[in-house]
Amino acid sequence: LKQNHEAIIFKLNEEAIAFFKLNLRSNEAKTAVKYLHSRDITNDDIQFFEIGYLPKTNSLVDHLISKGYNISDIVDAGLGTYNEERQKMYDIFADRILFPIRNENKELIGFSGRIMESDSDRPKYLNTKETKIFSKRKIAYNFSEAIKTARIKKELIVLEGYMDVISLHKNGIDNTIALMGTALSQYHVNLFKSIKGTVKMFLDGDEPGIKGNIEASQTLISNNQKVMVVNNPTNNDPDELIKQGRKAEIEKMINEALNPLQYIISKRWPKVNSNDFNSVEEFMKEICSFVLKCNNNILYETSIDELEKITGLSKEAIINFYKKILKHQI
Ligand code: ATP
Ligand code: MN
Ligand code: MN
Ligand code: MN
Repeated sequence: LKQNHEAIIFKLNEEAIAFFKLNLRSNEAKTAVKYLHSRDITNDDIQFFEIGYLPKTNSLVDHLISKGYNISDIVDAGLGTYNEERQKMYDIFADRILFPIRNENKELIGFSGRIMESDSDRPKYLNTKETKIFSKRKIAYNFSEAIKTARIKKELIVLEGYMDVISLHKNGIDNTIALMGTALSQYHVNLFKSIKGTVKMFLDGDEPGIKGNIEASQTLISNNQKVMVVNNPTNNDPDELIKQGRKAEIEKMINEALNPLQYIISKRWPKVNSNDFNSVEEFMKEICSFVLKCNNNILYETSIDELEKITGLSKEAIINFYKKILKHQI
């Protein structure tokens, strides 16, 4: 029975994507198409990534009901919501551009809907709620496509947003997935095993992106996955860099990806005031905690040499610092 219910949700999602795609071709979708073109998303990209639209004037819920689907299944699929007071069904994704999210087996597990206006009370993105088949911890946007090139290149690039995936795809960089703002989890670690190569973390250049790169590296290293980090020195994401005509810079960044220890040091050390004991200690705390979480002997040994070189602290002091962290004294 459970399997049956999952099958219905998959089916509903497929009905929905067909409806969204069709509606992107309708007269109601002029603003949506204009928006996509303004973001340099071509008709080819629209086809390849199966981008769609749900106009305010054309209800998906009504369409599904007319095809004989149950209200409760539509709600369970995260495509509609029932308002008790008004005793009426509402569309979840009304007036949003829709990006289907497929799993590693190409099954349609959910959607992300983006608004077109830049000033709005509505959230910029709305993803499918947690359903029987959609869990936000298990998103690897574009994985089933990326894996093809990733296996050949022995390299997979992990981006933050699917706009970044689409941008790089049309610029000839195919081996990318997007986490869509979620943390890298054990699910991803398991998926990446089949690449038998390197994962390159390339989240946005802002502070949340830096933190995400560092945390993902910890997860990957402690699971024995080879990982490098792309140092994006700008505050822009890959899609924005492409838009600015900086494709060559992106390629250079990717080629010159750092090992995670180099990355974290290069991000943090320039901000340290080496005359201020507190500032040095903060730095040491972040680096050493990172290394310990990675749970890798070679990284640990390397870090002692690196930290000695950079900070001028003795090896003994660094090892003692590690010991203090382990005893929870720091
Ligand atoms: P855009 O270029 O369209 O403005 P972005 O991809 O640069 O989008 P970010 O703010 O960098 O957007 O967020 C990265 C990713 O995180 C998005 O692609 C999206 O999947 C996810 N995300 C961002 N905001 C939300 C939100 N409010 N709810 C759900 N997911 C979100
Ligand atoms: Mn971001
Ligand atoms: Mn971004
Ligand atoms: Mn962006």
